[in-house]
Amino acid sequence: MSAPNPAAVPAATPGIIRPMVGRDTAFFWEGTAVGELRIQRCHDCDALRFPPGPSCPRCHSFDQGHVVAAGTGTVFSYVVHRHPPVPGKELPIVIALIDLDEGVRMVGEVADAVPDGGGAEEIEIGMRLQVDFRRIDDDLTLPTWRKA
Ligand SMILES: [Zn+2]
Repeated sequence: MSAPNPAAVPAATPGIIRPMVGRDTAFFWEGTAVGELRIQRCHDCDALRFPPGPSCPRCHSFDQGHVVAAGTGTVFSYVVHRHPPVPGKELPIVIALIDLDEGVRMVGEVADAVPDGGGAEEIEIGMRLQVDFRRIDDDLTLPTWRKA
């Protein structure tokens, strides 16, 4: 995939940053499209891993499958992103490292956790989160997180 090209983005999603989808990650995005948060699993040693990759870091097998996560986790750490601007986003946004209950860690945006008041939930380390799925268009559904 080449550098972001605003002209190539569908009009319905002006400026949003789209993920790179390849052979190792297609299963993840096929999962979000049907409301599943999928974690890659090694068929040989059952190790779970995120982000997805072509081979198992534990046993080096290329035989891979996936499990469907419960969609719950805990905030390990987070940042409040205020600058620079992010295409398709109204700042600030909260980006967290989330420890899924299955034992892998992933990065995600926490909605409704904007700091500085406004009635939003205040995010903190250790907070329990629940995944949601935000459909962007026919080709992209993004996982987002909220307080459980
Ligand atoms: Zn393995």
